[in-house]
Amino acid sequence: MKLALFSAHGYDRRFFEEENVRFGHELVFFEAGLETRTAPLAAGFDGVCVFVNDRLDAPTIAALASGGVRFIALRCAGFNNVDLKAAAAAQMRIARVPAYSPHAVAEHALALILTLNRKTHRAYNRVREGNFSLDGLAGFDLYGRTVGVVGTGLIGAVFAGLMLGVGCKALAYDLKPDAELERRGVEYVALDELYRRADIISLHCPLTPATQHLIDARALGLMRDGVMLINTGRGALIDTRAVVEALKAGRVGALGLDVYEQEEGLFFSDHSGEVLLDDLIARLLTFPNVLITGHQAFFTEDALRAIANVTLSNAREFESGALLSHEVRA
Ligand code: NAD
Repeated sequence: MKLALFSAHGYDRRFFEEENVRFGHELVFFEAGLETRTAPLAAGFDGVCVFVNDRLDAPTIAALASGGVRFIALRCAGFNNVDLKAAAAAQMRIARVPAYSPHAVAEHALALILTLNRKTHRAYNRVREGNFSLDGLAGFDLYGRTVGVVGTGLIGAVFAGLMLGVGCKALAYDLKPDAELERRGVEYVALDELYRRADIISLHCPLTPATQHLIDARALGLMRDGVMLINTGRGALIDTRAVVEALKAGRVGALGLDVYEQEEGLFFSDHSGEVLLDDLIARLLTFPNVLITGHQAFFTEDALRAIANVTLSNAREFESGALLSHEVRA
């Protein structure tokens, strides 16, 4: 099928072209993100292939449909950026990549925890400047600490396993508890209890109307003093303004973000020569106990290959009229 890939970077091109040898789709790569203004680029294509910050709202979907697009291939797991009702009304089918490497994201969450705790980011810079002082670098043993996992789907389950592996006690909250995790020693509790008891809280639930600003001033108020908060889920799970206040008050001890509420238009490209206009992220960047990565938790070669493979396979299923294994419905 003829597929227009939006928000395409060099690494997308590399892995999609390599995997496409087995599928034979016609792929055209666009650097631009998909939105209403760029939707006409897809006129004449059977499908569009999009990533997390492409905006598939109702006007964009209408513009795509009028250009003949019938298929949306999400090369990611989350689909909060798609107006599912508008897509259904336009008779457009959608498929996603439900699991490309839960290990990649879970391991990145662990990397954020280890870095924030042992301050290796600061130690790296110090030592390179000939400063071997240990002042301010003290961390704590993860062993014996309590970690709270919010959302124990594919990624949260792997993450909980990693934390059990370093000797943490694991609490979890999910709408559907995982019996296998319970058997391995994870204790499911109510969300407020998790907030009250955990030393480290890591978010692995999807962004939905129910989870928007899940971590707000109320939730932060319940947490232990000095709590470490990790978000590799979606930016808007956290009310960033509330967390800035909690950081200023010393209530949050460390914050690790791979995703940010207003990351659209900022993440995935180089803005180093520009004035940073987002005051909220600018403020976050001033805290020594905040570590931000630019939505790179998924970014391993294994995951990129799996993403390309499943996306192209989804397109083949759509083209052949087969049932879509990874369909997203309204
Ligand atoms: P998944 O669907 O396997 O698991 C999500 C879990 O969250 C499910 O167990 C579900 O029951 C639970 N859940 C749903 N609503 C909830 C709520 N209100 N409270 C608590 N739990 C709730 O998804 P996954 O593959 O584990 O991915 C989780 C999220 O991670 C995705 O939705 C996506 O937003 C994010 N993600 C981020 C990256 C990254 O690079 N940073 C990469 C992939 C996925």
